[in-house]
Amino acid sequence: MGVKLTCQCSECLLAQADFVLRQRSELIGQGAGSTSIVFDGAGGVEFRQRSRSALEDAVEARNLAERQRDVAEKNELRAQIKALARRFEQAQTGGLIRDNNGRFWTRNSLMAMFASQRED
Ligand SMILES: [Zn+2]
Repeated sequence: MGVKLTCQCSECLLAQADFVLRQRSELIGQGAGSTSIVFDGAGGVEFRQRSRSALEDAVEARNLAERQRDVAEKNELRAQIKALARRFEQAQTGGLIRDNNGRFWTRNSLMAMFASQRED
């Protein structure tokens, strides 16, 4: 609609609510402390005040997604290490184990890696 309504005094809020009802167009606040005027589902409107900005919400959502990805990668690495450890136990040669990436592991390096993964 191209409408910018920043004043939040009671008079302006009522005018904004009137606009929402007449135009059937919700007003969504993006900044911290801003008020959104949205349909209440019963033919009226309700006021919702943001405690945080939309940007803060987006940053938090992104950080959460990154943390989940880190955990998933770590779990995958743990599974790979466990599989290598199993292969090592089965081999019982006391020699080196070669993983799918062509990297060689001794039993000690494998156990150290496994232990470091368990710490965090
Ligand atoms: Zn005002």
